[in-house]
Amino acid sequence: MECLFCKIINREIPADIVYEDEHVLAFNDIGPQAPTHQLIIPKKHISTLNDIEEADLATVGRLQLTAAKLAREQGFDEDGYRVVMNCNEMGGQTVYHIHMHLMGGRIFTWPPG
Ligand code: AMP
Repeated sequence: MECLFCKIINREIPADIVYEDEHVLAFNDIGPQAPTHQLIIPKKHISTLNDIEEADLATVGRLQLTAAKLAREQGFDEDGYRVVMNCNEMGGQTVYHIHMHLMGGRIFTWPPG
């Protein structure tokens, strides 16, 4: 399996893991774009947002629940935070295993670049 995030799930490469359950893993982004920048991924390999199937809906919903839980635990749920999922090249996706970016600790502008 060549997928970088599958390797993190399988502990073949290290990551700073902040949350794990049966379906989901979360870890600090290696190149943070905010004081808090974490990635929440399904343990099942799904390459892009285009590849989500009906059977994945509970797991994908769990990504958002985990983001909200992590935001709450780190105390930026009230002030606000940003979640982002990039799809394919023009969407800015560089790792082809779906992931939700959770960013907090600074003000975010709109539209993003
Ligand atoms: P995207 O551009 O949406 O595909 O996001 C991929 C993210 O993965 C980027 O924010 C990278 O900084 C992050 N990333 C790449 N390699 C690693 C790694 N080994 N550990 C943690 N985060 C990583």
